Amino acid sequence: MSDTLFLGIDSGATTSKIAAVREDGSIFPSDLLQRPTGSEGGPEGVIKAWIGAIGEYMAEHKISWSQIAGVGLAVPGPRRSYGVLDNGPNLPDSFNGWNVEQDLIAALKHESGQMLSLALGNDGNMGGVAEAHRAIGNQKVGVVMLAPGSGLGGAYVDPTGMCLDGDTLAGMEVGHLAAPLHLLGVEALTCGCGRDWGCFEMYTSIAGLPDLLNLALPRYPGHSLEDPSLGKKERVLKLRGLAQDGDALALELFDLQAKAMGLLVAQLAMAVDPGCFVVGGGLIDPDATTEEFRERYLGGIKSAALEYLWPTQKNVLRIVPASLGEQSQAIGAALVARLKAKQ
Ligand SMILES: [Zn+2]
Repeated sequence: MSDTLFLGIDSGATTSKIAAVREDGSIFPSDLLQRPTGSEGGPEGVIKAWIGAIGEYMAEHKISWSQIAGVGLAVPGPRRSYGVLDNGPNLPDSFNGWNVEQDLIAALKHESGQMLSLALGNDGNMGGVAEAHRAIGNQKVGVVMLAPGSGLGGAYVDPTGMCLDGDTLAGMEVGHLAAPLHLLGVEALTCGCGRDWGCFEMYTSIAGLPDLLNLALPRYPGHSLEDPSLGKKERVLKLRGLAQDGDALALELFDLQAKAMGLLVAQLAMAVDPGCFVVGGGLIDPDATTEEFRERYLGGIKSAALEYLWPTQKNVLRIVPASLGEQSQAIGAALVARLKAKQ
């Protein structure tokens, strides 16, 4: 094996993942390698953990440093400026103001004996790059990725494969755009971000489900989720299973989420006119949902979006499920490293 490769690191607050792509952009076949991020050891501990995980990955696949042409790093926000972290909710204070770019470049140089280029990006955007790459193949179209989970992640990937980062790496934070609440028939819920204008995140992800459930429960007297012994989180996590058993309340909530997603799709189509939307998250996960449920969810998104699109968009726009799972952000980081090296 002597392929030229680009490595990608996906740094989460608790675990980091490693993946690689080849020079032609194809994904290097490997199982998910996931190791603790080591944030309790401060910035130094994190660099050590990343270098250790890369070393393990390279040893496992018999890759030498001479094959590595660049490295990408996907990091969660917020950032003070490109490469410099700001005070985030998931990391200790010692990370505030840390120049991760500078330290990782130095560590990579020490390890590899060469100066490697490093591409840094927002983790959600990096995931979008990978899913877009997978969804469109060699087609030259723009892609928007929407990933509802604990919050709602978003990314726009242009026809060259690069993501829109914005000037502070906060580009495409679409979860915090305001939803048209009159079309959803719901009230404005205050989002975790502090905005009170009805952020889409509250109507499309787990973040808003406790409130939406509380609003809906009185309409379903005697429902099993009224059980006072159930915790807030526990109740919400039961919804996906209940919906797949045909529970009317749970289906109502996920239909609402699909409609909100569809309205967001239509709004983003107005803004960036992409050829394809990729939808990720637990509601389209083939390991956790039935085909019938996924079809209902994706169908709800499509029908809500279609009503508001331009005639041409109605004919060409595709909405497809994500397919790379947990590896997407590390693969995206590697793809961005490759694109940067080609510039
Ligand atoms: Zn918000």
